[in-house]
Amino acid sequence: MYRVGYGCDLHRFTEGSSLRLGGVTIPFSHALLGHSDADVLLHAIADALLGAAALGDIGDRFPDTAEENRGRDSAEILALCNEAVEQAGWRVSNLDCVVCAERPKLGALKTRMRDRIAAILGVRPDQVNVKAKTGEKVGPVGRMEAIEARAVVLLEPVGKEGAKEQAQ
Ligand SMILES: [Zn+2]
Repeated sequence: MYRVGYGCDLHRFTEGSSLRLGGVTIPFSHALLGHSDADVLLHAIADALLGAAALGDIGDRFPDTAEENRGRDSAEILALCNEAVEQAGWRVSNLDCVVCAERPKLGALKTRMRDRIAAILGVRPDQVNVKAKTGEKVGPVGRMEAIEARAVVLLEPVGKEGAKEQAQ
């Protein structure tokens, strides 16, 4: 038995000199606005994970009203969501995601983001895929008002794979 989950997120641009995407700090002419470090990609992935395991959403677990979440590293948030998923008996089989950003150009950063996400989740890089798209100069992404991210994850039961490894 497998479980599929979907997550999406959007953060607005604000003044700043860098932003965080997929756990990677990227120097840029703007920052992303958010209560935590506003890592829109890691938030979408965390929601996909929680969704697949029927564990609610990231807002339930890390409310933006909580002082402890101010400026919080989203890598830590994602790792805690992953832990909850594992405690529920699941682990990531594969993860696919897309970042929609007019700027910065993300093509050269996709591999770094993939490797970082795989490390946070404790999976191999070939279980993770990161895609990048622009907004074609229309909508909030294309007008450089925001960055969006979407993620789909497939979970497999921890026990089943463990048994298979033992049999080999
Ligand atoms: Zn977010």
